[in-house]
Amino acid sequence: MTDIERLRDIVDRSHRIVFFGGAGVSTESGLKDFRSEDGLYREKYVYPPEYMLSRDCFYRHTEEFFRFYRDKILVGGVKPNAAHYKLAEWEQLGKLIAVVTQNIDGLHQAAGSRAVYELHGSVLKNRCTECGHRYDVEFIKNSEGIPRCIKCGGVVKPEVVLYGENLDEDTVAGAVRAISAADTLIVAGTSLTVYPAAGLINYFTGENLVVINREPVPASGALFICGKVGETLGKIK
Ligand code: NAD
Repeated sequence: MTDIERLRDIVDRSHRIVFFGGAGVSTESGLKDFRSEDGLYREKYVYPPEYMLSRDCFYRHTEEFFRFYRDKILVGGVKPNAAHYKLAEWEQLGKLIAVVTQNIDGLHQAAGSRAVYELHGSVLKNRCTECGHRYDVEFIKNSEGIPRCIKCGGVVKPEVVLYGENLDEDTVAGAVRAISAADTLIVAGTSLTVYPAAGLINYFTGENLVVINREPVPASGALFICGKVGETLGKIK
């Protein structure tokens, strides 16, 4: 049996799949990940990307934060790929109970997925730090310098979890519930190095752990498929 046939067989037998993904799920849509050879961490900035996306940078160097954020994170014209669409299809078929993602790009919802736990928030949601008024992503894209609230003049902050900030408790609780209830966990496109998110896969006690990644990652006891996640899932009916 080839790895693809084994994955097909696992998917056929599963009724409660949970997909746990990272930045590698969206590289086939044209978004850079962080740690690959061509990832954002290999580019040169005044401060390293971890700092540019930190709480400290947001409050101390707000203008630089937004320059980096608009240039590198809010990349326009990006569409879901075969991985996003396949997961949405499995949810519709009643095979998949949830997507747990470290991504902040909103592409799972754009593909039609509904049960999505966004551990690191979403670029699509933004809020005034003073009055809480909500803004869409276009507001941030179209603003210049520091985006200011039209109601009170406060700084508008993306609802993404910056380095140095805590994950949302309800989102984590929902993700843990889903992973604990899964019969199959597919971990894909993640280096499994960003904690606490990466630790959530330890709640899995089901039958089949599948890892799909372009390079080896620290998850054991798995069917490991070394390849692209969109290409791989695209081959499964
Ligand atoms: P990471 O950059 O640390 O690791 C990505 C992994 O995916 C690497 O192991 C890489 O080899 C693999 N990969 C890349 N493209 C792939 C593909 N097409 N198929 C299979 N594997 C592929 O990403 P991470 O583990 O998600 O951690 C980075 C953090 O950065 C996350 O917390 C996430 O919030 C954030 N991030 C998000 C986006 C996004 O929303 N699209 C993009 C970059 C970073």
